[in-house]
Amino acid sequence: MQIDELLKKSQNGEPFSTEELVQMLRYAPDSPESYRIMAASNRISKELSGNRAEVHAQFALNLAPCACNCAFCSFAQKNGVFTRETRISPEEAVAQARQFEQDGASAVFVMTTAFYPFELFLEISREVRRNLKPQTVLVANIGDQPPQNARQVKDAGFTGVYHAVRLREGSDTGIPSRRRKASIKNFLEAGLSVGTCVEPVGPEHTNEEIAEMILFTGSFNPAYSGAARRIPIPGTDMARLGMISELRMAQIVAVTRLGVPRSVTGNCTHEPCTLGAVAGANLFWAESGANPRDTRERTEEGRGETVRSCRILFQESGWELLEGPSRFYRDRH
Ligand code: SF4
Repeated sequence: MQIDELLKKSQNGEPFSTEELVQMLRYAPDSPESYRIMAASNRISKELSGNRAEVHAQFALNLAPCACNCAFCSFAQKNGVFTRETRISPEEAVAQARQFEQDGASAVFVMTTAFYPFELFLEISREVRRNLKPQTVLVANIGDQPPQNARQVKDAGFTGVYHAVRLREGSDTGIPSRRRKASIKNFLEAGLSVGTCVEPVGPEHTNEEIAEMILFTGSFNPAYSGAARRIPIPGTDMARLGMISELRMAQIVAVTRLGVPRSVTGNCTHEPCTLGAVAGANLFWAESGANPRDTRERTEEGRGETVRSCRILFQESGWELLEGPSRFYRDRH
């Protein structure tokens, strides 16, 4: 199929097959075809979100060596980056959440590593919830959960979660992909919106793998999909595989937008960048505290962006910003 036909199909809102997505991913990232796909994605994202990009912000309740051993993660025990656990207090958690609220984040994310005690997560989250404005959207980024825990997450005042089946889940990670999928189902059935992403993309991933993951992310009507590249953790086995360019990531962000149904209004990328925003990303994250892509204990001193810097990246890319609570998450209810 020619690029004109692919774009026509997109204009008509028709679904794409794996093969068609592979064809779009196969174009060189700097080819005229890729730029046309990015332009189409930008237009769709702007239409779906009324030209209002969103900045969400995540802080971590802990930092700990994690036995799930995802090869790309700085918390993975086998990567040896962090050797002891540190946790923040409920007061610090409240302060971080309130700071993000004050900075204008459209959603506040609470992250933990996979083995953080679930009861403690709930307890601190309830305290955070009590100290935020009622309209502030709270999102959990936590490990896999059975149905009863998913309901407790909802009851603690969360609107949604972030959860993804990562590329090569089960081989690059210690978690079977069926467990990730079961958690997504449990979260959805508990009434939580699920945001997701095609991640973490490295140079070794084939176009077929990426295309299949794009279709999977679109299959459960998430709050948003998108694409994020893998950030190499220095000294790890996976770092030797390298990193895709920002332009290649922008191409994948754009193909994801075209490959996911229009009912999904959000399209994220991480880490935040103007190329991603130009290619149709309408969601970025600011971060503080522990970060699985950073070797610093406090990512605000390392790779983490602020709400303000994310907003500037969007503005520089021709986007306006949503003021107030997330529509990507809120719209699901
Ligand atoms: S990505 Fe999550 S589950 Fe995997 S090692 Fe890191 S903290 Fe553990």
